[in-house]
Amino acid sequence: MTESSPRLDIIPTRGTDLGEGLQVHRALPTRQRRMVGAWCFLDHIGPIDFRGGSGMHVGAHPHTGLQTFTWMIAGQIHHRDSLGTDLLIQPGEVNLMTAGHGISHTEDSPANPGLVHAAQLWIALPPSQTDCAPAFANYANLPRWEEQGSTLTLLAGAYGGHSAPTEVHTPLLGLEIVSQAATRIQLTLRPDFEYGLLPLEGGLHLADQQLLPQNFGYLAPGSQTLELELEANSRILLLGGEPFGRELHMWWNFVALDRPTITQAQRDWQAEHPRFGQVPGGAQRRLPAPVPPWALPLTPPNPV
Ligand code: MN
Repeated sequence: MTESSPRLDIIPTRGTDLGEGLQVHRALPTRQRRMVGAWCFLDHIGPIDFRGGSGMHVGAHPHTGLQTFTWMIAGQIHHRDSLGTDLLIQPGEVNLMTAGHGISHTEDSPANPGLVHAAQLWIALPPSQTDCAPAFANYANLPRWEEQGSTLTLLAGAYGGHSAPTEVHTPLLGLEIVSQAATRIQLTLRPDFEYGLLPLEGGLHLADQQLLPQNFGYLAPGSQTLELELEANSRILLLGGEPFGRELHMWWNFVALDRPTITQAQRDWQAEHPRFGQVPGGAQRRLPAPVPPWALPLTPPNPV
């Protein structure tokens, strides 16, 4: 029995300027694809050389209803949050911040920043966890092994007999595949998962399809295997998950299963509600939350 080669939906990422020269490529959400499993946001940051500059500085801002998941490839980010966490996020580590009912944080490049390369992801929390207490965890020891000429690092979920320690709340996969030489790798998939592929460096071929950086490949559920031909010096991020199965609402840094929850979170942040805590040193650099479009006061129609 042969399985015909699965085909990817190839979706261009969106270049987004986060200010101060920080260009990112947003792979999720896009008009074509909102989520892969519970993964609901994916920014590819850099690689960008901050030498001679001040790097990136993001003032205090809140989150709700999600986990932020940072995969640091090169460089460092100084993370401070309202739980009192204060650390430099290092290459090869995953940092997982669970917002739940509410958290706030700042992100800053250290002095004399160099090259920065990272993937910033969000994971939507399921209904049972969306309002949970906030938490922060740093994972410095992730399963890493050699297979079929590539180095695999398991960021989330389970693969090939390995399990990642990252605490997530829905069935998910996060796997990084790195190869110096051009090579071929056969991956085992879960037919109940949908998948997304993003080249962070290099590129890949899948049968007659080619996936280059700045393109996100989506694969619908139903496949058991995936054979990738990696170009030399490739670094590929493979995400997977059971389709989330719920409508998800996202506005600014808030995620929720309904709009009124977001409307309330925006008002609470503007009112400095204690649910978001205080980032030490963050009071002077508080980012204002924009009012969601559905909560704007109605303007009377112009007479014609
Ligand atoms: Mn954030």
